[in-house]
Amino acid sequence: METECILCGGCADICPVDCIEILPLTALSISQKSFRQISARDNTTLRMDERYILIQYNDLCIRCGLCVQRCPVGTFVMED
Ligand code: SF4
Ligand code: SF4
Repeated sequence: METECILCGGCADICPVDCIEILPLTALSISQKSFRQISARDNTTLRMDERYILIQYNDLCIRCGLCVQRCPVGTFVMED
């Protein structure tokens, strides 16, 4: 991913095979230690219940490129 995702949901909406999910971080089993490391890396003080994660199931992706076209901030890129 190239630029910061604004979690608009456009890519998940347009994906024809439903291989993109946006979930609250609390939906994942993340230890407090791992969460502190993620927060430090992302330089944020947001709580776990204020953060979301975008998951792309790469093995399901058919490389149609629709998410790339839909993304308003250029988060997704596709290369040969
Ligand atoms: S390129 Fe993959 S992730 Fe993106 S919309 Fe198409 S199938 Fe979904
Ligand atoms: S379309 Fe782009 S900005 Fe919107 S949720 Fe998907 S990756 Fe994030």
